[in-house]
Amino acid sequence: MSEHVFTKDFTKQEPICEEGMGKALDILRTGRLHRYNVNSEEKGDVALLEEEFAAYLGKKYCLACASCGSAMYLALKSLGVRPGDKVLCNAYTLAPVPGAIENAGADIELVEITEDYTIDLDDLESKAGEAKWFMLSHMRGHITNMDRVMEICKTYDLTLIEDCAHTLGASWNGKKSGSFGKVGCFSTQTYKHINSGEGGLLVTDDPEVIARAIFHSGSYMLYERHTARPDRDVFECIKSIVPNYSCRMDNLRAAILRPQLRKLDGQCARWNRRYRILEKGLNDINGISCPRRDPRESYVGSSIQFSLDVEDKETIKTFLQACLDRGVELKWFGNKEPVGFTSVYSSWEYFSEIPSLPRTDRILSTMCDMRVPLTFSEEDCKIILDIIKSVAHTVPL
Ligand SMILES: *Cc1c(COP(=O)(O)O)cnc(C)c1O
Repeated sequence: MSEHVFTKDFTKQEPICEEGMGKALDILRTGRLHRYNVNSEEKGDVALLEEEFAAYLGKKYCLACASCGSAMYLALKSLGVRPGDKVLCNAYTLAPVPGAIENAGADIELVEITEDYTIDLDDLESKAGEAKWFMLSHMRGHITNMDRVMEICKTYDLTLIEDCAHTLGASWNGKKSGSFGKVGCFSTQTYKHINSGEGGLLVTDDPEVIARAIFHSGSYMLYERHTARPDRDVFECIKSIVPNYSCRMDNLRAAILRPQLRKLDGQCARWNRRYRILEKGLNDINGISCPRRDPRESYVGSSIQFSLDVEDKETIKTFLQACLDRGVELKWFGNKEPVGFTSVYSSWEYFSEIPSLPRTDRILSTMCDMRVPLTFSEEDCKIILDIIKSVAHTVPL
């Protein structure tokens, strides 16, 4: 058993459900993939997805986009973020997040993180006075105390944008992640919780923000074909002043997403069964600890992060390599150099000022990350645990 090699692929997703494939074929047969290529009395799949997603989140309006990165960019532009504005953001996030901020011409002000991998709210508060905007990235699905976030935003007049790429289906104290901010942004990229290859969803209750976002996404003067939108007059008075950035979603993607959205809560429960097995097993291994999670946080465990109780980088690299040799692919946030999808804030050198964040550096330097695709069974999770456990004994941590 201890020499077991795990052979499954950490990036292999489940197939698109039959219903989604059937819908996709229907659309392919008509050739009408563009979201506005519908008859005037007919609602296309993108419009229907937007209605259904807004209802799922309990929000008034939704816009489907080309990606979560483009949704975040459209959110910043639609809210009125100007070149040179300061946008606060937690330092532990994925590269498209600072990328969206840079794309809007704004400056990033990075905020430290805590031992549980969420934003350091004391550091946020100390930096809040100078900024108007706050991009909160629920990185890898870790949700901070949203009650306190909302208080800080109110006190300092900060406008909150949520990056929910890993919290689709998650909530804080019974309220859905993505419904706290002025705007919430989601990803439907293959490695997230619903899969259309690429894709993004933006939600808000603000009529002018959604009207601007719809124009920005590239609606031309076809905005009336949107159904998760405010009245026509909101559009009429801004139609000449909002540029078209062309980042729409198409009907093919929307068609495969709609049945996945209906199955989402069930999929989240499957992820969490795997997460809880891994969390318990990892916490039982000497030298490894998973973050404490607040009972008010209802997360989606589509990946798992843990910290190693060693500081020596060579020992960590040996541990990671030994796991990889036995088929267990872990990512590490302690690398200064970007590798694959993983990069750390200090590598985003395109910003004029990247601060040093000693607490975040320390936490990232021992943090590991593992994907948990639903193609892994609960039994597979136990095999992975056995491997990590035996490697942790031999390295040793
Ligand atoms: C994947 C991801 C994004 C970007 O999503 P895309 O749809 O690929 O643009 C943003 N934030 C986080 C935390 C992510 O993991």
